[in-house]
Amino acid sequence: MDFNSLAGQETVKRILIRTVDRDCVPNSFLFYGPEGVGKWGAALALAAYLNCRNRIDGDSCGTCPPCRQIRKLQYPNLFTAIPTPPSRSDTEEIENYWEILNRKIAEPYALITGRRQMTIPVATVRQIRLSLGQKPPVDGLRVVIIEQMDRMLSGSADALLKLVEEPPSRTLIIITTSRPERIPATIVSRCRRVRFARLAGSAIKDYLVEKAGQDEKQASLLARLCHGSLGTALYLTEEDNAQDREVAKLLFKGIFLAETTEAAAEAMELLPTGDRFRLNRILAAWQTLFRDIMLLQSGARESYLANIDFVGELERLAARPVNQKALMKIPALIGSVMEDIDLNVEPNTAVAALIIEISRRITPESL
Ligand SMILES: [Zn+2]
Repeated sequence: MDFNSLAGQETVKRILIRTVDRDCVPNSFLFYGPEGVGKWGAALALAAYLNCRNRIDGDSCGTCPPCRQIRKLQYPNLFTAIPTPPSRSDTEEIENYWEILNRKIAEPYALITGRRQMTIPVATVRQIRLSLGQKPPVDGLRVVIIEQMDRMLSGSADALLKLVEEPPSRTLIIITTSRPERIPATIVSRCRRVRFARLAGSAIKDYLVEKAGQDEKQASLLARLCHGSLGTALYLTEEDNAQDREVAKLLFKGIFLAETTEAAAEAMELLPTGDRFRLNRILAAWQTLFRDIMLLQSGARESYLANIDFVGELERLAARPVNQKALMKIPALIGSVMEDIDLNVEPNTAVAALIIEISRRITPESL
């Protein structure tokens, strides 16, 4: 991974390259911003740039041994911690860990997803601390990447805090997160913060066409639907997800037109059971659909809509009288339920309650 292969994030690239060129690399970085916008890729590109033997034009060469080993996550001075699903044994844990790392090696923007709650095991952080206490196997700066640190259990966070508080010499710790508010303040305050913005549609489209083999038309649609997250766009290319999107659209129609809660309850049967990740994807699709309805009702042009393949239906739905003030608050309401689901609330119950709540709120009081 080099800076040149990253989609967009020009400001971030400039900051990171300048930091290295001026020799003012801090002990720890906090990369924060939405998921799927390139924090992991940037961490690897930085690790490569720091260790590359033949930097060319402000980037790593991609061909020297450290560059090649870093790309395969086999560089002896690179340590990574990444959320994994719960495991029954150490062997299973290592298998899960490598399965996820291999996905990230093949596609750095791949979202780390799983049916069950993913966490960074305490043992991983302890192991990293132990390795850092030993003499480095090769010269150069050691780099530790803690991916999605917000998914760390408190025991791991304590172990990591010790590491950040007393950083071993010649070691850079890079923490990434899409939820910086969940990182202990004691850790945040010790890191240099770098913000990652949502990606421009054009950067996402180019990546999808050039690197993910999507045709132009599909890439344009995905770039509109993914709300600036390349990881989400890639996720939507998988077959299951196209199906989820259809379910999301169908249910959305049900919710939007529902005059009784029974209709909503019927629609509920279409939802996957107990799958937090898929349910949250469906909720994310609802957010884009509600935003589109608001745009249509405020007279925006079609070209501003995310769901361009659904325009006809959206126009029909937008004609329905709704409580405008309540409608404006629905995307945020959905967002808060997504957070709850992420925090271990029983997902189907939360979605059922949300459907009833939305139907209740958007129905005009006069009806
Ligand atoms: Zn190199």
